[in-house]
Amino acid sequence: MPKIRFFNTLGRRFEVFEPRSPGHVGIYTCGPTVYEAVHIGNLRTFVFEDVLCRALELLGYEVAQVMNLTDVEDKIIAGSVAQGVAVEDFVAPHIETFMRDLARLHVRPAQGYPRATEHIAEMIELVSSLLERGHAYEAEGSVFFRIDTDDDYGRLSGVDLSSAKQGSRVAADEYGKEDARDFVLWKGAKEGEPSWESPWGPGRPGWHIECSAMSMKYLGPSFDIHCGGVDNIFPHHENEIAQSESVTEVPFVRYWLHSEFLQVEGEKMSKSLGNQYTLDDLVARGLDLRAVRYVFLSVHYRQKMNFTDAAVESASSALGRIDEFRFRLENCPEAEAPEPLIEGACTQLVASFREALADDLNTSAALAALFTFVKQVNVAVEQGALGSGDRQRVADALRSVDRVLGVLHREEWQGEESAGIAEQEVEDLVALREKARTDRDFAESDRIRDVLQEAGIRLEDTPAGARWKRR
Ligand code: AMP
Ligand code: ZN
Repeated sequence: MPKIRFFNTLGRRFEVFEPRSPGHVGIYTCGPTVYEAVHIGNLRTFVFEDVLCRALELLGYEVAQVMNLTDVEDKIIAGSVAQGVAVEDFVAPHIETFMRDLARLHVRPAQGYPRATEHIAEMIELVSSLLERGHAYEAEGSVFFRIDTDDDYGRLSGVDLSSAKQGSRVAADEYGKEDARDFVLWKGAKEGEPSWESPWGPGRPGWHIECSAMSMKYLGPSFDIHCGGVDNIFPHHENEIAQSESVTEVPFVRYWLHSEFLQVEGEKMSKSLGNQYTLDDLVARGLDLRAVRYVFLSVHYRQKMNFTDAAVESASSALGRIDEFRFRLENCPEAEAPEPLIEGACTQLVASFREALADDLNTSAALAALFTFVKQVNVAVEQGALGSGDRQRVADALRSVDRVLGVLHREEWQGEESAGIAEQEVEDLVALREKARTDRDFAESDRIRDVLQEAGIRLEDTPAGARWKRR
């Protein structure tokens, strides 16, 4: 098994990965705030985390992934008050949409999706411990973490708060904080807001305490990997470390992995630019979600990703090459003796693929290894050199790497809505059109072509029959 190395945000250097318990990995991944549909930037991070878990499994580890759902937060409170519904009812449809979006990108489910509102007791206990230990103070029904009591504050992000203005009283809407640097652990409720009972009166937990409480409950006070996007490094993850370690006095997390941001056509996503796309927006634009997953895989997680139409198009054409390769493989004749090169190529693919992933999850190098393999095997296929058992060897190698990629088997994406028309439906229409053409019923064949065109499907007639592509 190759040695794995990761770039650890804590310490900003590459480190060899050694989990606390040999063969087992505990991973905590910050989940979404469920007040609206997530955007494709969030999804880039969630796909990165999915690939990380799949890669660790391929490399021989048993993985326990936990992702929280932030179901209490200012926007959620505001939304539930505005709609006059309970917090639980306000978030329910957003949670459903989130789970559906993950499934549509073939993100495998985590072991658990704990919700903040179901862990209020654990958070109250943590806040109480921080108060007892002198790391927190109560003010006007809220509780704050006192940054001054943590000598190592800033160890993750490198942020130095020691020069920040101390002792300045901040506005009353910040719940009576004593020092501008301090952060809230428990927020006292305002009049008319949904709230939970606590020793400090009715209120709700702060965001950071939620992730400390739930990660430690499910993975222990010290666990292996914690992930999120780069925007989570400060203050969210910095604060998680401060409050967790102030209570447990053991290192909270060993490896911190952060994914870079996704941009759209070179610009930061924002509501005002109208480019903060959800998965539904991509589907409405006729994009194929399998190609979208491929785009996410094609860029290393620590590189900024520029999501463009051109990138989706080139992903589609790369997948088209894979589909064609598999088609030829399944339909080529097999000679009697196996081609010795094939076995070597398969072993090489699996080895290079694993090596690339073990090198800080280098998915772009892993894909390059795959295409080198496709090229090699294609030569053998063209020469009619594939022999007994080779077809199966190649199929097995593809199956093995697809345990991580999750995009190579087109049939597993069939029935996915993408350009508003399911794959099977397209196949059926194409077959009908072929038949109309054979029957020389050109009016009918033109009609079907128009229907397909309307649905964003481009047809190309070749001597071997019609082929189609999503535009
Ligand atoms: P949030 O709901 O804002 O906490 O985001 C959920 C996850 O998505 C977090 O891990 C964020 O770091 C990540 N994230 C937010 N915006 C982007 C973006 N544009 N690109 C990549 N990841 C993002
Ligand atoms: Zn978090």
